[in-house]
Amino acid sequence: MSDHGSNPTDQPQPSPQQEAAVQQAGAARNLDAHRDRYAQRTAGMTASEIRALFAVASRPEVVSLAGGMPNLAALPLDSLATEVSRLISVDGQAALQYGSAHGVPELREQICEIMAMEGITGHPDDVMVTVGSQMALDMVTRLFCDPGDVVLAEGPSYVGALGSFNAYQAKVVHVAMDDDGLQPEALRHAISEVTSRGERIKFLYTIPNFHNPGGVTLAVQRRAEILEICRHHDILVLEDNPYGLLGFDGQTYPALRSLDPDNVVYLGSFSKTFASGLRVGWVLAPHAVREKLVLAAESATLCPPTLNQMIVSRYLSTHDWKGQIKTFREQYRERRDAMLSALEQHMPEGCSWTKPDGGFYVWFTAPEGVDTKAMLPRAVTQRVAYASGTGFYADALGSRQMRLSYCYPTPERIREGVRRLANTLTDEMEL
Ligand code: PMP
Repeated sequence: MSDHGSNPTDQPQPSPQQEAAVQQAGAARNLDAHRDRYAQRTAGMTASEIRALFAVASRPEVVSLAGGMPNLAALPLDSLATEVSRLISVDGQAALQYGSAHGVPELREQICEIMAMEGITGHPDDVMVTVGSQMALDMVTRLFCDPGDVVLAEGPSYVGALGSFNAYQAKVVHVAMDDDGLQPEALRHAISEVTSRGERIKFLYTIPNFHNPGGVTLAVQRRAEILEICRHHDILVLEDNPYGLLGFDGQTYPALRSLDPDNVVYLGSFSKTFASGLRVGWVLAPHAVREKLVLAAESATLCPPTLNQMIVSRYLSTHDWKGQIKTFREQYRERRDAMLSALEQHMPEGCSWTKPDGGFYVWFTAPEGVDTKAMLPRAVTQRVAYASGTGFYADALGSRQMRLSYCYPTPERIREGVRRLANTLTDEMEL
């Protein structure tokens, strides 16, 4: 018998994350004259800890290791400006017009060429362009999750994805990772626990490459095993891969989608390899799922912005975009090196951290007894900010952890930030 059966109201039980969020939002809601009008599903909607941090962390005297903003200083802005201006004067009527929810055809073809770099053979018909991959996360969850359905996700996981799962009242069950990414044995265990409770798993959400926030990559030899486990238990895989081309040695890994096209929905994005503010991402899905996604997207936005899609498409056809990605990789590698060497140099004993081969993030574990969320105001007083670990879990784990981003500050600022953080941590351990 399912848990739902033993629940007298027959309503899905809220997750610990939803309960905590509801309590937190309670006080604010009491001041809101519209509070009795909102749909029930909005109860868990609160600003993420990371968003709340942005205001403080963006003060110039604070070194922010908190946000995951790409560093766009290396983009060729002048030639992009010329390209955009030409696009509007030559093709403005198309660029400023509505388009299809599916996305601009030429861009979908180019997206297939990009995905081929990670072994994916996709058809442009099965690609839908989205407003960043965040929209794809929302659309896929909207399509598959009823309240109380279970989504499996690495623990920790991407905060924006947790937000989408929360918004549709899905229940997140975390699966442990190690330095080689998601652990197949932990996945088997989670599936058997969830199914023995009679709950329904809708998909496994995974970030195989240069994980946000974990900083680790799923070992190649684990990929087929994880796909096999999901196939065996009839669980769809949602592969989120915004960082895949940002391996510091230019290395790429076979996408899960390339290994099991019929059971994987793949999300990609131009946010980290080109320009996050254009908000252009995509989803590649099995054909029937893609058709449903287009219907869901039509009702959400009618179509993704035509101008932005055409800017991306022109950029890809007129610029050395592979060379640009190489420049990004080199810049991020230098920053990763600055962070890792500063951590080695300054951190007190008892700390540990991951050593990313690509992407933007280090996942840091403080010694027993440290609560990184409680420590954050003291860190900000010492002019350094980070993202505390609990925001990356649906179940209040992560209190000793924090995510340190090296993507945006210069190497010098990173070294200074880590030094300040080490001082804060040392003081904290003496408290
Ligand atoms: N997934 C992951 C793992 C991310 O790190 C991000 C951005 N931080 C996104 C999805 C969303 O990216 P976007 O909407 O900008 O494409």
